[in-house]
Amino acid sequence: MENIELIKHLSNAAGVSGFEDDVIAVARNYLGDEAVVQEDRVRNLFIRSGTPGKDLPCVMLDAHSDEVGFMIQSINTSGTMKFLPLGGWNAQTVSAQAVRIKNSNGLWVKGVVASKPSHFMGPGEAKAPMDISNLVIDVGASSGQEVMEKFHIRIGAPVVPDVAFHHDPENGLMFGKAFDDRLGCAGVLEVLKHHISDIQHLNVTGVLSSQEELGLRGVSVAAREAAPDVAIVLEGTPADDTFNSSDFIQAGMKRGPQIRHMDRSVLCNPRFVRFAIEVAREHDIPFQEAVRSGGGNNASVITLHDRGIPTITLGVPVRYIHSHHCIAAVEDYENTVEWCVKILNQLTPDIIEGF
Ligand SMILES: [Zn+2]
Repeated sequence: MENIELIKHLSNAAGVSGFEDDVIAVARNYLGDEAVVQEDRVRNLFIRSGTPGKDLPCVMLDAHSDEVGFMIQSINTSGTMKFLPLGGWNAQTVSAQAVRIKNSNGLWVKGVVASKPSHFMGPGEAKAPMDISNLVIDVGASSGQEVMEKFHIRIGAPVVPDVAFHHDPENGLMFGKAFDDRLGCAGVLEVLKHHISDIQHLNVTGVLSSQEELGLRGVSVAAREAAPDVAIVLEGTPADDTFNSSDFIQAGMKRGPQIRHMDRSVLCNPRFVRFAIEVAREHDIPFQEAVRSGGGNNASVITLHDRGIPTITLGVPVRYIHSHHCIAAVEDYENTVEWCVKILNQLTPDIIEGF
């Protein structure tokens, strides 16, 4: 249950791109005082293991700490606010949702994305496609002045989905926001806290990288600091089993973690991918292979870093990623962590050399 508690705190933490502070606080609290952690200027968090100076292969274990959200763009005289998306949103899922806005006192203000009642709609208006630029956030203020003076909200304020984590132990399910990529963050933290004592043959640097949703920004800084020989990216990957035909399910819930051969941003090192698959087979860990025409993840940046870093991406299938409400299975999360640990256990300098 400790892992569910961790996931709950990470999921509930508010951390849109550039404002990952609360996620970092949850991570620091979980790791405790004895952990060797360090933070850079773009809010990347590094968790060090191993013996500094010892000539061991260095593995970067990455997950991004940010989540998709919004930023207040302007305040209308009516008291509503225009906003811009931080990360990829489908506008149809945004209207009528609850949000929280961080005000200039550091407090979170409840709001909703305003939706026009059908009573006020003209013919055909209800069926017209939505655009985020036409939506506004309402905190219940009566004027723009009130927004600024009473609610202390300024332009540039970060906005997060307002959703509380829920665990269904009976069915092994989790509901909540930001499973992309707080499930990956939980995995990185769990490995670094509980499994690292078995992995003395490697220097592992856990990284909670920032601003992934804005175009893989934090990781390009983080890869320089971590300077890895190989890397594993843990992700919350979009589940496809409620959309795709049974012939084309590559991220079904409760079918195991996903390993990506490629997506739009990266072709993962094929020898590292094959090694990871052999490890999963050896330990009877269920897994799914994916070849994606879309998507993108931090592996693309790490793969092309320095002289080229062999990198793989393991993903927990998450239904309805990049919306307010995600669903994921506890077993998929636990199998991802187990797979990651087994890969780390079996990585040797010779194997890394062969990548
Ligand atoms: Zn992600």
